[in-house]
Amino acid sequence: MSRNITEQELELRLLAVAEDRRHRFLFTLQELNAALAAQLQQVPADEWVDHPPLTAWPQLQPQINALKQVDAALCQWQLGLYGLCSDCEAELTREQLWLDPCRQRCDVCEQKYHKAQHGNWQL
Ligand SMILES: [Zn+2]
Repeated sequence: MSRNITEQELELRLLAVAEDRRHRFLFTLQELNAALAAQLQQVPADEWVDHPPLTAWPQLQPQINALKQVDAALCQWQLGLYGLCSDCEAELTREQLWLDPCRQRCDVCEQKYHKAQHGNWQL
């Protein structure tokens, strides 16, 4: 990245990612159950992940996790905590956030987190 990314650009990018993930999720759900998809559109988008009927489709879980990430990032933005590592509160760079607007951890904590995850898989 040869120039500085502004805060406003980051916000627009985060909102675009949120919009995109929600749109895809709705599209997938429409294929599975059109009535439920229509019902979900009546619910505020940040409450979708807690919508109980969705647990009937385990294959939606990866997309639900992606929505949870985006919800968390939007919530942090509103609280003025966006871009801070959720473990050590180090500031992430704007370049890192541009590449992954839902990023939650700095490099060090990310590695620790993945090691912990990997450990759980082996149990
Ligand atoms: Zn950290």
